[in-house]
Amino acid sequence: MPAAVLTVNLSAIAANWRSLDAMTANAVETAAVIKANAYGLGVGPVGLALINAGARTFFVALAAEGVRLRQEIGPAARIFVFSGYMRGDEAAFVEADLIPLLNSADQVLHFLAKAAGAACGLQLNSGMNRLGMEAEELASVVEHLPALNTVLVMSHLACADEPEHPQNAAQLAAFNEMTATLDTARSFAATGGVLLGAGYHMELTRPGIGLYGGAPFVEAQPVVTLSLPVIQTRDVVIGESVGYGATWVATRPSRIATVAGGYADGLIRAMGSNAALYAGDVACPIVGRISMDLVTVDVTDLANIPSALDIINTVQTVDVLAEAAGTIGYEILTSLGGRYERRYTES
Ligand SMILES: *Cc1c(COP(=O)(O)O)cnc(C)c1O
Repeated sequence: MPAAVLTVNLSAIAANWRSLDAMTANAVETAAVIKANAYGLGVGPVGLALINAGARTFFVALAAEGVRLRQEIGPAARIFVFSGYMRGDEAAFVEADLIPLLNSADQVLHFLAKAAGAACGLQLNSGMNRLGMEAEELASVVEHLPALNTVLVMSHLACADEPEHPQNAAQLAAFNEMTATLDTARSFAATGGVLLGAGYHMELTRPGIGLYGGAPFVEAQPVVTLSLPVIQTRDVVIGESVGYGATWVATRPSRIATVAGGYADGLIRAMGSNAALYAGDVACPIVGRISMDLVTVDVTDLANIPSALDIINTVQTVDVLAEAAGTIGYEILTSLGGRYERRYTES
C-alpha cells in the first residue's frame, strides 16, 4: 500500500521566513526556531532550506536537538538552546558548538566553571514565569557578567498572539528595564512579537510557527499537505453504523471510505466529525470515531473515489484542523506521526 504522504513545501517555508524578515528593519536579524524537529516537519531539510533563504541563527529547545541540527546544517550558523546549560549536556555544547541561553544564576555559575570564554546567551523572565532570570537573580550574578562572553539576551512574551493584551506592553517595559545597562544584542519577538511592531523587534527576532504557515501569521503561505490512502470502500444501508461505539448511523444509503491514518499518527480523536477529508476541493465528512490507524469518511456524494483523500490542504489548514480538535496549530504540527512518508517539494 502507498504510505500516507506528508508533503512539506520548503519554498513556502523559505518565503515565510523572507516575509517575516521583511517586516523588520534591515538591521534586525531574523533567526528561525526549529525546535521539536522543526515543529515536526524535519529539521534537516527545513534547516537547509532556511540557510539557503538566508537564516544564520537557529534556536532549539534541547541540546540534543542542537547536536542533530549541527549534523544536518554544518558549521555555518549559530545554534542557541532554550533550556540553557543543563547538567549532562556540557560535552554536547562543545562538540556541536551550541550556545546555551543561561536561565538561572546556577546555570551562569556552572557555565563559568565549565566553559568560561565560550559564547552564551542570557534568558530573562519579563513576566511569563516559565524560563529565565528575574531582575533580582540577574543582579545576584552581575559581578560575573564581565567574565561571560554574552552574545544575546532574550525574553519571551506570553500573550503576543493577542495584540491588545496589556501584558505585552508590561513585559516590553520590564525587558527594556532589565536590559538597559547591558550592551548586548537583544531578542524578544517570536512570530507574534514580529507582528506586534518595531518596538518589539530589538536586534534579533526568532519566529517559529509563522515559518511553518501557522497562526498568528495569517498571511503565511501554507506549508503542509497531508494525504491519506483509501484502503477500502463499502456501501452501508440506512440504520447501519460505522466505527467504534456505533456513534454514526446511516440515514441514507451511504458509501464509506476507510483511509490509513488515525490518532496514532496525530489525527486527534477529539476532532471527530468536526473535520473533513478532501477529494480535491470537495469536503467529505468524517463519520464515526477516529481510531488508532483508520478514519472513516462519507464519500457518498463523490462520483469517483480517489486513491487518497487529503486531511490537510489549503482549505482545511493546520489551524482549521486545530480548531476542529480544540487545540492550536503548533500541536497539530508537532503531533504529525512517524508513519507518514515525508516528501519535500520546492515549488
Ligand atoms: C517556541 C519558542 C519560540 C517560537 O515561537 P513561535 O510562536 O512558534 O514563533 C520563540 N521563543 C521561545 C522561547 C520559544 O519557546
